[in-house]
Amino acid sequence: TATQSVLTMSNVEVVYDKVFLAIKGVSLEVGQGQMVALLGGNGAGKSTTLKTISGLLAPERGEVTRGQVHFMGEDLAPLGPSQRVDRGLVHVLEGRRIFGHLTPEDNLLAAFSLKSDRRRYQQLRDQVYTYFPRLKERARTKAGYLSGGEQQMLAIGRALMTEPQLLMLDEPSLGLAPVLVEEIFSIIREINANEGVSVLLVEQNAAAALEIAHHAYLVENGHIVMTGEADVLRQNPDVQEFYLGGA
Ligand code: ATP
Repeated sequence: TATQSVLTMSNVEVVYDKVFLAIKGVSLEVGQGQMVALLGGNGAGKSTTLKTISGLLAPERGEVTRGQVHFMGEDLAPLGPSQRVDRGLVHVLEGRRIFGHLTPEDNLLAAFSLKSDRRRYQQLRDQVYTYFPRLKERARTKAGYLSGGEQQMLAIGRALMTEPQLLMLDEPSLGLAPVLVEEIFSIIREINANEGVSVLLVEQNAAAALEIAHHAYLVENGHIVMTGEADVLRQNPDVQEFYLGGA
Protein backbone atom coordinates (compact mmCIF):
# COMPACT_ATOMS: atom_id res chain seq x y z
CA THR A 1 0.00 0.00 0.00
CA ALA A 2 1.01 3.62 -0.44
CA THR A 3 0.49 4.53 3.21
CA GLN A 4 3.32 3.77 5.57
CA SER A 5 2.56 0.97 7.96
CA VAL A 6 2.52 1.46 11.69
CA LEU A 7 2.14 -2.19 12.57
CA THR A 8 3.01 -5.36 10.68
CA MET A 9 2.48 -8.86 11.96
CA SER A 10 3.83 -11.73 9.92
CA ASN A 11 3.07 -15.38 10.40
CA VAL A 12 2.39 -15.10 14.09
CA GLU A 13 1.52 -18.23 16.01
CA VAL A 14 0.65 -18.36 19.68
CA VAL A 15 0.73 -21.47 21.81
CA TYR A 16 -1.01 -21.66 25.19
CA ASP A 17 -0.07 -24.30 27.73
CA LYS A 18 2.70 -25.45 25.40
CA VAL A 19 0.38 -27.43 23.15
CA PHE A 20 -2.67 -25.42 22.14
CA LEU A 21 -2.35 -23.28 19.00
CA ALA A 22 -4.59 -20.27 19.62
CA ILE A 23 -3.52 -18.38 16.50
CA LYS A 24 -2.06 -20.11 13.50
CA GLY A 25 0.00 -17.93 11.23
CA VAL A 26 -1.69 -14.54 11.45
CA SER A 27 -0.37 -11.75 9.22
CA LEU A 28 -1.84 -8.28 9.27
CA GLU A 29 -0.98 -4.67 8.76
CA VAL A 30 -2.19 -1.31 10.08
CA GLY A 31 -1.33 1.68 7.92
CA GLN A 32 -0.53 5.13 9.26
CA GLY A 33 -3.77 6.83 10.32
CA GLN A 34 -5.88 3.80 9.44
CA MET A 35 -8.65 2.21 11.43
CA VAL A 36 -8.47 -1.54 11.03
CA ALA A 37 -11.03 -3.97 12.45
CA LEU A 38 -10.32 -7.53 13.50
CA LEU A 39 -13.63 -9.39 13.49
CA GLY A 40 -14.67 -12.83 14.56
CA GLY A 41 -16.67 -14.85 17.04
CA ASN A 42 -15.91 -16.07 20.53
CA GLY A 43 -12.54 -17.77 20.83
CA ALA A 44 -11.47 -16.96 17.26
CA GLY A 45 -8.14 -15.58 18.45
CA LYS A 46 -8.75 -11.82 18.45
CA SER A 47 -7.71 -11.06 22.04
CA THR A 48 -4.68 -13.30 21.69
CA THR A 49 -3.62 -11.28 18.65
CA LEU A 50 -3.82 -8.03 20.60
CA LYS A 51 -1.95 -9.48 23.57
CA THR A 52 0.83 -10.59 21.26
CA ILE A 53 1.19 -7.02 20.00
CA SER A 54 1.09 -5.38 23.43
CA GLY A 55 3.41 -7.95 24.99
CA LEU A 56 1.00 -9.39 27.51
CA LEU A 57 1.70 -13.04 26.78
CA ALA A 58 4.13 -14.63 29.19
CA PRO A 59 6.51 -17.42 28.19
CA GLU A 60 6.87 -18.37 31.86
CA ARG A 61 3.17 -19.30 31.81
CA GLY A 62 3.71 -21.46 28.74
CA GLU A 63 2.41 -18.75 26.38
CA VAL A 64 4.78 -18.84 23.44
CA THR A 65 4.80 -16.58 20.39
CA ARG A 66 6.41 -17.28 17.03
CA GLY A 67 6.63 -15.00 14.04
CA GLN A 68 7.34 -11.31 13.83
CA VAL A 69 5.71 -8.11 14.96
CA HIS A 70 7.09 -4.72 13.96
CA PHE A 71 5.86 -1.37 15.20
CA MET A 72 7.03 1.73 13.31
CA GLY A 73 9.70 -0.45 11.77
CA GLU A 74 11.01 -1.77 15.10
CA ASP A 75 10.98 -5.43 16.08
CA LEU A 76 8.87 -5.67 19.23
CA ALA A 77 10.25 -9.00 20.44
CA PRO A 78 12.83 -7.59 22.87
CA LEU A 79 10.44 -5.01 24.36
CA GLY A 80 8.28 -5.49 27.45
CA PRO A 81 4.73 -4.16 27.75
CA SER A 82 5.62 -0.80 29.32
CA GLN A 83 8.36 -0.14 26.77
CA ARG A 84 5.75 -0.73 24.08
CA VAL A 85 3.48 1.85 25.73
CA ASP A 86 6.42 4.28 25.72
CA ARG A 87 6.78 3.67 21.98
CA GLY A 88 3.13 4.72 21.48
CA LEU A 89 1.36 1.39 21.46
CA VAL A 90 -1.55 1.12 23.86
CA HIS A 91 -4.02 -1.72 24.49
CA VAL A 92 -7.44 -1.16 26.04
CA LEU A 93 -8.25 -4.59 27.44
CA GLU A 94 -11.61 -6.28 27.15
CA GLY A 95 -13.74 -5.54 30.21
CA ARG A 96 -12.44 -2.02 30.87
CA ARG A 97 -9.91 -2.42 33.67
CA ILE A 98 -10.33 0.96 35.30
CA PHE A 99 -9.64 1.75 38.97
CA GLY A 100 -13.13 1.55 40.48
CA HIS A 101 -12.21 3.21 43.77
CA LEU A 102 -10.72 6.28 42.05
CA THR A 103 -12.50 9.19 40.38
CA PRO A 104 -12.38 9.45 36.58
CA GLU A 105 -9.80 12.21 36.86
CA ASP A 106 -7.54 10.17 39.14
CA ASN A 107 -7.80 7.30 36.67
CA LEU A 108 -6.59 9.66 33.94
CA LEU A 109 -3.78 10.92 36.15
CA ALA A 110 -2.70 7.36 36.94
CA ALA A 111 -2.30 6.68 33.23
CA PHE A 112 -0.14 9.75 32.64
CA SER A 113 3.53 8.98 33.06
CA LEU A 114 5.29 12.38 33.05
CA LYS A 115 3.94 13.43 36.43
CA SER A 116 6.10 16.57 36.57
CA ASP A 117 4.63 18.02 33.39
CA ARG A 118 1.43 19.48 34.86
CA ARG A 119 0.59 21.48 31.72
CA ARG A 120 0.86 18.49 29.42
CA TYR A 121 -1.31 16.53 31.84
CA GLN A 122 -4.00 19.22 31.77
CA GLN A 123 -3.91 19.44 27.98
CA LEU A 124 -4.35 15.70 27.59
CA ARG A 125 -7.04 15.52 30.27
CA ASP A 126 -8.95 18.37 28.63
CA GLN A 127 -8.65 16.62 25.28
CA VAL A 128 -10.18 13.49 26.85
CA TYR A 129 -13.01 15.62 28.30
CA THR A 130 -13.61 17.18 24.89
CA TYR A 131 -14.19 13.76 23.40
CA PHE A 132 -16.03 12.42 26.45
CA PRO A 133 -17.79 15.34 28.19
CA ARG A 134 -19.70 12.79 30.29
CA LEU A 135 -16.50 11.98 32.18
CA LYS A 136 -16.11 15.59 33.22
CA GLU A 137 -19.71 15.71 34.44
CA ARG A 138 -19.02 12.61 36.53
CA ALA A 139 -15.75 13.96 37.91
CA ARG A 140 -16.66 13.42 41.57
CA THR A 141 -18.07 9.93 41.20
CA LYS A 142 -15.89 6.92 41.85
CA ALA A 143 -15.32 5.15 38.56
CA GLY A 144 -16.82 1.94 39.91
CA TYR A 145 -20.20 3.69 40.03
CA LEU A 146 -20.10 4.85 36.40
CA SER A 147 -22.32 3.13 33.84
CA GLY A 148 -20.80 0.51 31.55
CA GLY A 149 -20.63 3.02 28.71
CA GLU A 150 -18.97 5.65 30.88
CA GLN A 151 -16.43 3.10 32.10
CA GLN A 152 -15.62 2.23 28.50
CA MET A 153 -15.17 5.95 27.76
CA LEU A 154 -12.82 6.18 30.73
CA ALA A 155 -10.84 3.16 29.57
CA ILE A 156 -10.34 4.81 26.17
CA GLY A 157 -9.57 8.15 27.85
CA ARG A 158 -6.87 6.52 29.96
CA ALA A 159 -5.29 5.13 26.82
CA LEU A 160 -5.28 8.60 25.24
CA MET A 161 -3.30 9.90 28.24
CA THR A 162 -0.33 7.89 26.93
CA GLU A 163 -0.39 9.80 23.60
CA PRO A 164 -0.60 6.65 21.49
CA GLN A 165 0.38 6.20 17.85
CA LEU A 166 -1.65 3.01 17.78
CA LEU A 167 -4.75 2.51 19.90
CA MET A 168 -5.83 -1.12 20.25
CA LEU A 169 -9.36 -1.66 21.53
CA ASP A 170 -10.65 -5.06 22.61
CA GLU A 171 -14.42 -5.16 22.22
CA PRO A 172 -15.39 -1.67 23.27
CA SER A 173 -19.04 -2.48 22.45
CA LEU A 174 -19.24 -5.37 24.92
CA GLY A 175 -22.37 -5.19 27.06
CA LEU A 176 -23.42 -1.75 25.86
CA ALA A 177 -26.84 -0.71 24.58
CA PRO A 178 -26.96 -0.02 20.82
CA VAL A 179 -27.23 3.77 21.20
CA LEU A 180 -24.11 3.81 23.36
CA VAL A 181 -22.23 1.61 20.91
CA GLU A 182 -23.09 4.11 18.21
CA GLU A 183 -21.98 7.04 20.37
CA ILE A 184 -18.68 5.49 21.42
CA PHE A 185 -17.88 4.26 17.91
CA SER A 186 -18.44 7.67 16.40
CA ILE A 187 -16.09 9.16 19.00
CA ILE A 188 -13.47 6.51 18.18
CA ARG A 189 -13.83 7.50 14.53
CA GLU A 190 -13.33 11.18 15.45
CA ILE A 191 -10.23 10.44 17.51
CA ASN A 192 -8.82 8.47 14.58
CA ALA A 193 -9.60 11.24 12.11
CA ASN A 194 -8.60 14.25 14.23
CA GLU A 195 -5.60 13.02 16.17
CA GLY A 196 -3.93 10.90 13.52
CA VAL A 197 -4.03 7.92 15.89
CA SER A 198 -4.12 4.59 14.08
CA VAL A 199 -6.65 2.16 15.51
CA LEU A 200 -6.83 -1.63 15.68
CA LEU A 201 -10.35 -2.50 16.74
CA VAL A 202 -11.29 -6.00 17.88
CA GLU A 203 -15.02 -6.67 17.71
CA GLN A 204 -17.68 -9.33 17.66
CA ASN A 205 -20.10 -6.61 16.58
CA ALA A 206 -19.09 -6.70 12.92
CA ALA A 207 -21.90 -4.44 11.73
CA ALA A 208 -20.86 -1.57 13.99
CA ALA A 209 -17.14 -2.06 13.35
CA LEU A 210 -17.47 -2.19 9.55
CA GLU A 211 -19.27 1.16 9.65
CA ILE A 212 -16.28 2.98 11.09
CA ALA A 213 -13.26 0.94 9.95
CA HIS A 214 -11.34 1.50 6.73
CA HIS A 215 -10.10 -2.05 6.45
CA ALA A 216 -10.96 -5.33 8.16
CA TYR A 217 -9.71 -8.84 8.77
CA LEU A 218 -12.02 -11.73 9.56
CA VAL A 219 -10.64 -14.30 12.00
CA GLU A 220 -11.90 -17.83 12.48
CA ASN A 221 -10.29 -20.55 14.51
CA GLY A 222 -6.93 -18.80 14.68
CA HIS A 223 -6.74 -17.98 10.96
CA ILE A 224 -7.40 -14.86 8.91
CA VAL A 225 -10.09 -16.09 6.52
CA MET A 226 -10.81 -12.86 4.65
CA THR A 227 -9.50 -9.33 4.43
CA GLY A 228 -10.41 -6.21 2.50
CA GLU A 229 -11.75 -2.69 2.52
CA ALA A 230 -14.63 -2.38 4.99
CA ASP A 231 -17.03 -1.10 2.31
CA VAL A 232 -16.27 -4.07 0.08
CA LEU A 233 -16.63 -6.60 2.89
CA ARG A 234 -20.01 -5.16 3.84
CA GLN A 235 -21.29 -5.99 0.36
CA ASN A 236 -19.91 -9.55 0.43
CA PRO A 237 -22.74 -12.14 0.65
CA ASP A 238 -20.76 -14.47 2.94
CA VAL A 239 -19.92 -11.61 5.27
CA GLN A 240 -23.55 -10.58 5.26
CA GLU A 241 -24.71 -14.07 6.06
CA PHE A 242 -22.14 -15.08 8.67
CA TYR A 243 -21.06 -11.78 10.22
CA LEU A 244 -23.91 -9.36 9.70
CA GLY A 245 -26.76 -11.65 10.68
CA GLY A 246 -28.11 -12.01 7.14
CA ALA A 247 -28.65 -8.24 6.90
P1 ATP B 1 -13.14 -13.64 22.96
O1 ATP B 1 -13.88 -12.51 22.32
O2 ATP B 1 -14.01 -14.65 23.59
O3 ATP B 1 -12.01 -13.17 23.84
P2 ATP B 1 -11.16 -14.13 21.00
O4 ATP B 1 -11.40 -14.15 19.54
O5 ATP B 1 -10.57 -12.89 21.55
O6 ATP B 1 -12.49 -14.43 21.75
P3 ATP B 1 -9.02 -15.50 22.28
O7 ATP B 1 -9.37 -15.00 23.62
O8 ATP B 1 -7.86 -14.94 21.59
O9 ATP B 1 -10.28 -15.39 21.33
O10 ATP B 1 -8.86 -17.07 22.38
C1 ATP B 1 -8.37 -17.89 21.31
C2 ATP B 1 -8.31 -19.33 21.79
O11 ATP B 1 -7.31 -19.46 22.80
C3 ATP B 1 -9.61 -19.83 22.41
O12 ATP B 1 -9.79 -21.17 22.04
C4 ATP B 1 -9.35 -19.71 23.89
O13 ATP B 1 -10.10 -20.66 24.60
C5 ATP B 1 -7.86 -19.97 24.00
N1 ATP B 1 -7.24 -19.24 25.12
C6 ATP B 1 -7.34 -17.91 25.36
N2 ATP B 1 -6.63 -17.55 26.44
C7 ATP B 1 -6.06 -18.70 26.92
C8 ATP B 1 -5.19 -19.01 28.03
N3 ATP B 1 -4.77 -18.06 28.86
N4 ATP B 1 -4.84 -20.31 28.19
C9 ATP B 1 -5.26 -21.28 27.36
N5 ATP B 1 -6.07 -21.04 26.29
C10 ATP B 1 -6.47 -19.78 26.07
